[in-house]
Amino acid sequence: MTISAKDTDVTTKPKAINTSCNIAVVGGGIGGLVAAYWLAKAGVRVTVYEASDQLGGLGTFFQYRNVSLERFYHCMLPSDRHLLGVLREIGLEDHIYWKETSFGFMHYGRLYGLNTPLELLQFSPLSWVDRIRVGLTGLWGSICSSKGLDDVTCVEWLSRLSGRRAFEIFWKPMLQAKFGDRYHKVPALWFWTRFNREKGAGKSECKGYIQGGYRRIIETLAKSIEAHGGTIRLQAPVEKLDLTEDGQLTIHVAQDTPQVFDRAVVTAPIFFLHKAMANSRLASVAEQIDTEIDMQGVVNAVFMLRRGFTKHYWVATIDEEIPFQGIVESTTLLEKTDTAGVHLIYLMNYVHRTDPRFHQSDAEILEAYTTGLKRLFPDLQNEDIIDRFVFRAPFVEPLYTTGYQQRKPSTALLPGKLYLATTTQVYPEVTSWNGAVGLVREVVDELLGEI
Ligand SMILES: Cc1cc2nc3c(=O)[nH]c(=O)nc-3n(C[C@H](O)[C@H](O)[C@H](O)COP(=O)(O)OP(=O)(O)OC[C@H]3O[C@@H](n4cnc5c(N)ncnc54)[C@H](O)[C@@H]3O)c2cc1C
Repeated sequence: MTISAKDTDVTTKPKAINTSCNIAVVGGGIGGLVAAYWLAKAGVRVTVYEASDQLGGLGTFFQYRNVSLERFYHCMLPSDRHLLGVLREIGLEDHIYWKETSFGFMHYGRLYGLNTPLELLQFSPLSWVDRIRVGLTGLWGSICSSKGLDDVTCVEWLSRLSGRRAFEIFWKPMLQAKFGDRYHKVPALWFWTRFNREKGAGKSECKGYIQGGYRRIIETLAKSIEAHGGTIRLQAPVEKLDLTEDGQLTIHVAQDTPQVFDRAVVTAPIFFLHKAMANSRLASVAEQIDTEIDMQGVVNAVFMLRRGFTKHYWVATIDEEIPFQGIVESTTLLEKTDTAGVHLIYLMNYVHRTDPRFHQSDAEILEAYTTGLKRLFPDLQNEDIIDRFVFRAPFVEPLYTTGYQQRKPSTALLPGKLYLATTTQVYPEVTSWNGAVGLVREVVDELLGEI
């Protein structure tokens, strides 16, 4: 399948400028890397500070046999125009492959496809009337305006359109799958954006992956930053942001001497900022960030198997007895050369970092997930499982509440000095590599405009 590049974002190339400006980028995920790449390319002196020993943030990878696998399942969509624009710019666009994919819904042990009107009509957990109402909700969601949807919850909006029963059986489990017990606060605008991104304006579902995995994107960006004179520092967690007496911005990393910068762009989760700016000349600036903003985490396991289960990329597994909320069967999208020939599935459970399930040992998680898998697929044998790994992330998706659009932190936290381009600000775009790149583009344009 070929996706035309004509819709991708190619206006991202900044003009080279003549400047001695020195900018710090905090965080080496996709947001930080793209920010640093554009700034370095424009002629700015840039230093990336990454806390961990690896670049890529939530899109990072691990070595398995002769391939690099994603720690957390990742794919792109044809509508990811910001991301596809960057991939074109760094010469990777031709390495993306696209496939038609599908979505399944496992309802108490029975698997339903949910990709066509006919499949929806066959979804027997809903009454006939409810099936039609859910179909009409989908149709309305794809044509209605998003105006006002930030002020209504998904629960209100979807219950009004589909009816209370259909909400309970169909929509609620999907919201719970992402937000756990905080689902009831999420604004309808989140759902609307996500639905329209996935469905791509009514065309059949299609997803993309890159030969060599996301590692290839990360490494290409890192090389480009360095080729343009930028510096990347790994294992360099920023602990403090401050101003000198004469108003210069300083970045403090552990025992290092504080470094002075003209400006900084923070792409790391905002939570560290309160601490990093407390007891500093920036303390009052940190107070602008709403302390009520919180984020959902994830516990995700990767299973390498000798067999696959379904033809669907993603299957929602809605059952209180099952300890994960979904299965991503990556091998429905990835080429064998990108999986070392094994069947690759991800099982995920979106939970808050304070939830005991976030802190279970790897062995406990793997035991529970394997039991859950066997329950769903009773013919699964121990010999089918080649390897299993667990990865957790505490800050994945903001726990949105109504009116979030107004409350999300502004990008210019201290204009002319300190900028934010974090996951908490991507809304109403879906949190994704594309969302991060789109946000970073706004910030970089603003910075380059100033300089
Ligand atoms: C399970 C899962 C599945 C996903 N699936 C997809 C998908 O299919 N497609 C898609 O596009 N997106 C997907 N995403 C979302 C996507 O990964 C994120 O939206 C994106 O990676 C966010 O990038 P970022 O650079 O803004 O933040 P992050 O990736 O969170 O990067 C922030 C970086 O800051 C670093 N950092 C933290 N504190 C400090 C500090 N004090 N000093 C210096 N550095 C610091 C962190 O180590 C990290 O590297 C998925 C995420 C998860 C968890």
